[in-house]
Amino acid sequence: MFENLSERLERSFKILKGEGKITEINVAETLKDVRRALLDADVNYKVAKQFTDTVKQKAMGMNVLTAIKPSQLMVKIVHDELTELMGGKAVELNLENRPAIILMSGLQGSGKTTFTGKLAKMLKDRQHKKPLLVACDVYRPAAIEQLKVVAETVGVDVYTEEGNKNVVEIAQNAIRKAKQESYTVVIVDTAGRLAVDEEMMNEISNLKQAINPDETLFVVDSMTGQDAVNTAKEFNDRLDFDGVVLTKLDGDTRGGAALSIRTVVTKPIKFVGTGEKMEAIDVFHPERMADRILG
Ligand code: GDP
Repeated sequence: MFENLSERLERSFKILKGEGKITEINVAETLKDVRRALLDADVNYKVAKQFTDTVKQKAMGMNVLTAIKPSQLMVKIVHDELTELMGGKAVELNLENRPAIILMSGLQGSGKTTFTGKLAKMLKDRQHKKPLLVACDVYRPAAIEQLKVVAETVGVDVYTEEGNKNVVEIAQNAIRKAKQESYTVVIVDTAGRLAVDEEMMNEISNLKQAINPDETLFVVDSMTGQDAVNTAKEFNDRLDFDGVVLTKLDGDTRGGAALSIRTVVTKPIKFVGTGEKMEAIDVFHPERMADRILG
């Protein structure tokens, strides 16, 4: 695996013993290490460059206390800056409306349907919500089936209209039912494609306009590296989503996609998926992700 950033910095700062201040000359080698660590963690090249420029400005001229090694000070600056750039604090969902409407978006295979189940379970168990799942992935019969299985696994209801391909109609009918039957959250699962295409984007942006959701979440597989950033940008340009869900963080990625996406689309990451089971969901904590990226 990767050498972690603290170890790298320790190495590059060995030559600096006796220096009392961080200066341009002694910081250059260190910043290369920081950049390499970020690239290893799958952070987008431009984002990594921009990040190290900021860190450089913050670090320059800082007094190094005798109690703290320059390498430790740099790790702290880098860690704090990463945390800050990823939003600082966890960001909650806006669920004030009754029912609150959540629209899921993302490519096929990103983990949308799985996450829909996980979120429903979390809201039911921890916030005593009454969720209704809605099957708007109407092109693959298997997708509707999968959502039914997920709903049953987590013990919530699901709304489907088999044979109807009009997703706006399905979602509106589901919302009507939710109002009549006192559901407090409606989570709409939509169709994803293997790559971004115009038809899919039109469908989901029409759906968004028609149902005016409280939260539009974009789900992305953290293992897809640089592609994750491009996909996030394309979805955000069309949907202006409210938050990101980063799935498959149980894989061996360092999670640099979190920093890249946050920097490029400037929308908060709200949740992470950490496994296939319905319990494998966490609220996104920027500080923990900074730890993970740095290793
Ligand atoms: P969708 O096409 O976007 O609805 O994606 P699915 O929910 O069907 O997920 C695609 C695959 O990824 C399935 O095999 C899921 O079990 C798996 N998956 C989803 N989320 C996670 C996760 O956080 N970790 C892991 N390891 N697998 C996941």
